[in-house]
Amino acid sequence: MLVGCGSMDLSPKLLNRLASLGQALDNRQQLQVFDGGLVGFDCETESEVIANVAQGEARRSPIRSGAGQRAASDTWRRTARQGHNFGSEAHERAFGTELRILARHYGTLAFEDQHGLWAVVSSNPLGPGGPQINFLTGVIADRRVTPRAWAFERIGVRAKTMALKHTNFPDASVCAFVPEDRAWSPGEGLVAYADHLTIWAVKQLYREHIGSWPGPQFGFGALYRKLEFQPQEWCGCLSDKRYADCHQASDLLASDPPAHTEFRAAFGCDYSDRKTPGPVLEAARTRWKRMPTLHQVFSLRPAKIEFP
Ligand SMILES: [Zn+2]
Repeated sequence: MLVGCGSMDLSPKLLNRLASLGQALDNRQQLQVFDGGLVGFDCETESEVIANVAQGEARRSPIRSGAGQRAASDTWRRTARQGHNFGSEAHERAFGTELRILARHYGTLAFEDQHGLWAVVSSNPLGPGGPQINFLTGVIADRRVTPRAWAFERIGVRAKTMALKHTNFPDASVCAFVPEDRAWSPGEGLVAYADHLTIWAVKQLYREHIGSWPGPQFGFGALYRKLEFQPQEWCGCLSDKRYADCHQASDLLASDPPAHTEFRAAFGCDYSDRKTPGPVLEAARTRWKRMPTLHQVFSLRPAKIEFP
């Protein structure tokens, strides 16, 4: 019997695994991320994780078998096969080493762009038989600009992003950490960035299949919390309390116009303005044959560093 909802059903075994991972996050336990995005508990070795998740799932597709990897026109891999690296020396200098490290740990496609690089990173947080999440990740050559990523639980003509909870406004890119967390800096590299995306995907999957967001979360303002938070989730004000025991009552009593004004002042747009940019969706729909430019997509949300 398959249980679940949304675009992908999970076997009872994978659902149990997801429930345990989410409960660990909710109890603020550390998880670790292995190759391919496989997520394990702090105490597990990689082979134990594989043994735990793979039993009974062996007939399913193995990790890193995503259709996108076969179908995409892949300038980086193609040139790598010819004994070269990137087409341009500037890209090779800026990204060559880091991309090769990323590709050792995650299924990776890379596409050169005038301003940097697009990388499609495939992650299987629950291992074989579980969902494959494809993160379309934009990395700007000026590394003072933080990378942005969009998470797809399905690519191809019926491409589908993961839910919008904990994505940025208005471009709906993944919000895996806030700068105040100091969770990631460019010096930590793209593997660590992909690991953060993977843990975000586990939380998103937990919410999709089990119903709430596990673990501490940040949520600015009454409107955002009221629309996105469940009572049993952690409150977004970092108070160490559940939402129901903290801001929920005052958020529900807040009248709408000031709440909307507060939101607009903080995010520069309305709550309803958030959506995945058309060119990003088109890239996933065409299995990365039609890629947007970084300029096109990153311009939708101001970065600290402006493009020339
Ligand atoms: Zn609170």
